[in-house]
Amino acid sequence: MGAGFSGAVIARELAEAGHRPTVIDGRDHVAGNCHTARDPGTGVMVHVYGPHIFHTDDAEVWDYVNAHTPFRPYRHSVRTTVRNRVYSLPLNLLTINQFFGQTLRPDEARAYVEARADTSISEPANFEEQALRFVGPEMYEAFFKGYTEKQWGVDPRELPASILKRLPLRFSYDDNYFAHRFQGIPGAGYTALIESILDHPAIDVHVSTLFQPEMTDRYGHVFWSGPLDGFFGYAHGRLGYRTLDFERFEGTGDWQGCAVMNYGDRDVPWTRITEHRHFAPWESPEGSVLYREFSRACGPDDIPYYPIRLVEEKALLAEYADRAARTEGVTFVGRLGTYRYLDMDVTIRDALDTARAFLDRAPGAAMP
Ligand code: UDP
Repeated sequence: MGAGFSGAVIARELAEAGHRPTVIDGRDHVAGNCHTARDPGTGVMVHVYGPHIFHTDDAEVWDYVNAHTPFRPYRHSVRTTVRNRVYSLPLNLLTINQFFGQTLRPDEARAYVEARADTSISEPANFEEQALRFVGPEMYEAFFKGYTEKQWGVDPRELPASILKRLPLRFSYDDNYFAHRFQGIPGAGYTALIESILDHPAIDVHVSTLFQPEMTDRYGHVFWSGPLDGFFGYAHGRLGYRTLDFERFEGTGDWQGCAVMNYGDRDVPWTRITEHRHFAPWESPEGSVLYREFSRACGPDDIPYYPIRLVEEKALLAEYADRAARTEGVTFVGRLGTYRYLDMDVTIRDALDTARAFLDRAPGAAMP
């Protein structure tokens, strides 16, 4: 298993139960795409592979991560720039009132949006239908269409409706991006958190090391957190991923006033700009590190970020999932291993459950 959340949590659970897990990761650091590193020039804690905000309703997962490194309170607020104006996200009463030039109260706004929504769509079959059903064509065109085309590189009609279900539509002025009970960022960064999870005498960690599927026989059991299709040598074809390119630049002080500014217009080539100092509001560096974020198709040598899961791609996924289920001695875990768009808390929950199910089946490991 690799050294992201899935691998680290499973390794720790197994180590606590008396096993001697080996963690093997191709990168030269632990923490996978959550990796954080302090920028030497400005002192800003940078989310090297893009913004990661921890939010969950799962109290056990929240306690688990906090036991390893204390989390600091953090409230994620995001804005979007569309047609030369700045709006509040997720879509809320302020967004609706500003976008339509209205002064609506919650019930009025609800009726106003409902009147624009396409209520003939009862079961939205894709991203576009989901958006038209819930916000109507005007807000779909402004806030979702261009951004989604840039982010996913396909027509929104080819994307699953579930992607949009991540975002709420609120008839209040609450602009907290997430509605979960617990929300925060590890005070010492995500890499320190993963290092703490891996810090057990029975866990052997190898970074800058590629695990080849042929090496499976050397181990009693393998938890594969790499790409699902990669394990099978892409035999049935490649599952689609998006990769991200970050164009780093520096500013002074508070450059954009918020952690993340989305850009909804199709003719702005980046999807968003992230200002990393805002992820640590308890620190006050003088300088600022910013990332312009560009999304594109993931090539064989790129880092996979987002599973695309095109509506038509489900058959290919089913083939790999079927082969995975029939592969003895290997459990497929995490975002890449199960080809799902997973948040960090769900990844940890799945990893805890997977490790416990494994231990139930294979108890009695000899203590070292
Ligand atoms: N989205 C959009 N416009 C926005 C923000 C999000 O169209 O301003 C869509 C987009 O398709 C995105 C999805 O909603 O992939 C989920 O958004 P989220 O903020 O959860 O994306 P993430 O932070 O995971 O990239």
